[in-house]
Amino acid sequence: MKKVILGSTGMEVSPLIFGSLPMGPLQAGRSPRDGGRLIRYALERGINMIDTAELYENFGHIREALDGYRGRCFLASKTHASDAETARRHVERALRELAVDHLDVVHVHAARVADPIVERRSVIDALLQMREEGKIAHVGLSTHYICAVRKVLESPDIAVVHPLINRRGMGILDGTTEEMAAAIAEVAVAGKGVYAMKALAGGNLIGEARMSLGFVRGLTGVHGVAVGMLSEQEVDANIALFSDAEFDEDQWRLLEGGQRHLKIMERFCKGCGACVPACTNFALDIVNGKARVDEQRCILCGYCAAACPEFIIRVV
Ligand code: SF4
Ligand code: SF4
Repeated sequence: MKKVILGSTGMEVSPLIFGSLPMGPLQAGRSPRDGGRLIRYALERGINMIDTAELYENFGHIREALDGYRGRCFLASKTHASDAETARRHVERALRELAVDHLDVVHVHAARVADPIVERRSVIDALLQMREEGKIAHVGLSTHYICAVRKVLESPDIAVVHPLINRRGMGILDGTTEEMAAAIAEVAVAGKGVYAMKALAGGNLIGEARMSLGFVRGLTGVHGVAVGMLSEQEVDANIALFSDAEFDEDQWRLLEGGQRHLKIMERFCKGCGACVPACTNFALDIVNGKARVDEQRCILCGYCAAACPEFIIRVV
């Protein structure tokens, strides 16, 4: 895979970035050993950047992958903190559990905050302070809002943007795919590094994976795409796609034939409603005392699973 430069960060990254969310406890629940083995497989085949987050609970998987690895691997994490002290705790936990001395990018993880530059000011300041201390190389913003992407134009401190975009616009909170694409192009021209998330809408577009990934990868200003992967076949297929190389058609058909769903174990649901505000896409409701998902809105991000005190939500 030909490397690309992630905006003015100068980071030379693979355009296919390993999205680690699906392997962790919010989704597939792979063990750190199994997950680590798969990430290592990907690293040894040319992927050189991993995207994670405090919320994903998978630092152990990544640490396993990096154990004894001699290549350069860029690490991007995220903090969903709304105050400086918690943000610092999140970064320090990541450093400790990943066993690294710095993180290449730490995003303000504010998917449904329309103006994170204002509303997460104390978090941004804390991250900038940790950048001064050498714990973070670059501060980023992870968002589902077009207006938040545009806000980054006014914020010289934010070097990397991690926006949600896919062909169908699923999960974009304030406009269309075309409007998000235009905002991405603008911030890239301004020197921001951009790597996209949810190009497959959390698995909803798996049936048209090649077309959907090709669409996002081809957008002006998109330097990379974080893609969640759970098997060596997926890694191989995606590396081939991002290298413009041939790949076995039958294998692609198999991969594109697999669908994913949000499973709520209704029998055990207490109807407490804790999952409802955790959903950035307003896809959850309580109906007759039980949580119910609107599959048209759900992007299979798994954030509701983290909010459920009964641990009965899974992306399967
Ligand atoms: S219902 Fe859950 S998995 Fe689906 S979009 Fe909402 S938070 Fe994400
Ligand atoms: S948080 Fe869990 S137990 Fe509570 S309503 Fe949602 S699914 Fe049910």
